[in-house]
Amino acid sequence: MKTQPKNSTYRVAVYPGSFDPVTMGHMDIITRASKQFDHLIVAVLNNLSKNPLFTVEERKDLLRRVTAHLPNVEIDSFRDLLANYVREKDAQVIVRGIRSITDFEYELQLASTNHKLNPDAETIFMMTNPKYSYLSSSLVKEIAHFNGDTTDLVCPEVDIALRQKISERAGK
Ligand code: ADP
Repeated sequence: MKTQPKNSTYRVAVYPGSFDPVTMGHMDIITRASKQFDHLIVAVLNNLSKNPLFTVEERKDLLRRVTAHLPNVEIDSFRDLLANYVREKDAQVIVRGIRSITDFEYELQLASTNHKLNPDAETIFMMTNPKYSYLSSSLVKEIAHFNGDTTDLVCPEVDIALRQKISERAGK
């Protein structure tokens, strides 16, 4: 039998995304994934081509606060190709959430690309909790923008930050 390194059973997963901001749908995936792996890195994509509401530091700060009760969850950000970042972190798994058939098409393309660039990393999909299948960060931002109720869609810390950010932007 081939000798395995001592820590070969230690499973590290990366859950990448924009998290602008983190929603209850993301929280559900983070909580479930944290139970499946020894260490889960939630990695905020520092993508200069998007026009985010929250800065990367603000998104990380919110993620840290809402995951403080999950000891094996780390919050980070990356600019590099995801496949390279995953290799750099010695992670074996990329976690993604699937809400619909529409997500599936895009996620399949992403997973195939990542597999080509880093064949050592496996993408694992987690099905959305049906109660959050409609939920996205864009929807939350739109509701908050029009002063709608987002209390069931995000954690209380995120709800407060959303209100503040939107009134700052409106110059109030
Ligand atoms: P991205 O810009 O990479 O799609 P998001 O922050 O929108 O980043 O999403 C990150 C990951 O979380 C993606 O895999 C996405 O499909 C998943 N996700 C987002 N919202 C939900 C939800 N409500 N239920 C399950 N998975 C979700």
